[in-house]
Amino acid sequence: MSNYTIAEVDLSLLHNNIKIIRSITDNVKLLNIVKANAYGHGIIEISKASERFGADVLGVATVEEGIRIRESGVSLPIIVLFQHFKDESDLVCKYNLIPIISNADCLEYYDRYLKKYGGKLKLYIKVDTGLNRMGARPEEVLSLAKKVLSYDTLSIEGINTHYAAADMQDEYSKDFTNNQIRIFNEVLNELKSNGIEINNAHTANSAALVSYRNTYFDMVRAGIILYGYIYDDYDLGIRPILNLKSRVALLRNIKKGESISYGMTWKSNSDTRVAVIPIGYADGVPRGLSNNWEVKINGNYYPIRGRVCMDTIVADIGNGNVNVEDEVLIFGNDERINANTLAKRINGISHEILVNIGERVTRVYKE
Ligand SMILES: *Cc1c(COP(=O)(O)O)cnc(C)c1O
Repeated sequence: MSNYTIAEVDLSLLHNNIKIIRSITDNVKLLNIVKANAYGHGIIEISKASERFGADVLGVATVEEGIRIRESGVSLPIIVLFQHFKDESDLVCKYNLIPIISNADCLEYYDRYLKKYGGKLKLYIKVDTGLNRMGARPEEVLSLAKKVLSYDTLSIEGINTHYAAADMQDEYSKDFTNNQIRIFNEVLNELKSNGIEINNAHTANSAALVSYRNTYFDMVRAGIILYGYIYDDYDLGIRPILNLKSRVALLRNIKKGESISYGMTWKSNSDTRVAVIPIGYADGVPRGLSNNWEVKINGNYYPIRGRVCMDTIVADIGNGNVNVEDEVLIFGNDERINANTLAKRINGISHEILVNIGERVTRVYKE
């Protein structure tokens, strides 16, 4: 097994990011989002570390992700953030997951299972305050809540909503977010005045967590900020916890006028030396970085020449001090080459860079 190309995750930096989030948000509970293989960092290890570092709840996208975490022995509450299918209702109950509902469709399925096998299910109600993706419309929430409470097997653990533009600073986006907050508060008040007290209300993703104090309610949902990324204008001490690394496999001499890689997109205008590095777009180095990125070797940055291939990139090292097997940083905890600066190069966001780190990249954990 080759582990020359690795994603090195520093769990002590995760711990530190969690402490910073705790200090920003005072006493509210912390839900760590570990969906999509914990944004590429490894769902089991990050879930276990989250439990050790004091997170209150975990958030996943699918029932299957929740089951994997349960089977690994983690005992934290696990919320399934996205709509599951009716035929997954039994598994939700069996594995003690917390579903978020937008309507009453699954209630009878939960109830049937619980009547048969015993136990109770706690669930969340999602309110759609403007994202228009999931959730009951605000005017439907009260009747949905009453419907849930009409089953003696079900209880309402909490209520939540999600923002459409908490990461954007323009006036339209700010107004939109503030309106979402207002609608959510109105729904809470309506429930309360009808005698339905809800203990766990949460709305804040990472962007809201740093930009809107009035989004915290009882809990915040920390996603990308856990992994060390948040907008440039905030220096909160949050640091990227993952370094995507490889090693120099081969050094080669290139003559003036020769091209490198598919499509001959780059030609050398002098004799030079290049390092061939065994990492490519299959490993999460976007093809859009062709002739458009630099990697760090022994403290120096060297440009990528030619196209990014499925399994290889080539860096122009000139007469730099580079040897075969030297370590190469592709991106990570580095001011110049990190998932944010990389995302900007290809018009993306750090989330998608991290989740696209390939399966064959060995995850290595240190603390
Ligand atoms: C993914 C997700 C988050 C986390 O978003 P970040 O931008 O990574 O903080 C929060 N809430 C919900 C519902 C999500 O799906």
